[in-house]
Amino acid sequence: MKDPSCLFCRIVSREIPADIVHETENTIAFRDIAPQAPVHVLVIPKEHVTSLATIPDNSEALLGQLMAAVRDVASIEGLEDSGFRTVLNTGPDGGQEVMHLHAHVLGGRELMWPPG
Ligand code: AMP
Repeated sequence: MKDPSCLFCRIVSREIPADIVHETENTIAFRDIAPQAPVHVLVIPKEHVTSLATIPDNSEALLGQLMAAVRDVASIEGLEDSGFRTVLNTGPDGGQEVMHLHAHVLGGRELMWPPG
């Protein structure tokens, strides 16, 4: 279900433009507007889910589809062999700014660890 005040729901409904790189029935992936790496794509469920902290119990299929979409984005972006990082920021301490579940897919250069 769409939350009209949610930025990412509005990207799903095409009210706000985005550089979409992959789409399935239940997920959509688009380039981050402020990339932190040569490849920086956000993969989200089309359904409004606030965060990993509040995701309903029956979301296993959706989470699986989200991870399959991450795999497909990595393949499309040519990151299969070089590798990539998948980040799900959750809540204030996790640095989550947009309250619609999203996986960052970062790659195209060696990424530092720990992230700080
Ligand atoms: P987070 O801090 O994990 O909530 O990440 C939110 C991400 O959304 C940030 O990396 C932002 O750069 C990105 N972002 C914000 N607005 C847009 C937008 N309109 N299109 C694409 N990415 C966006």
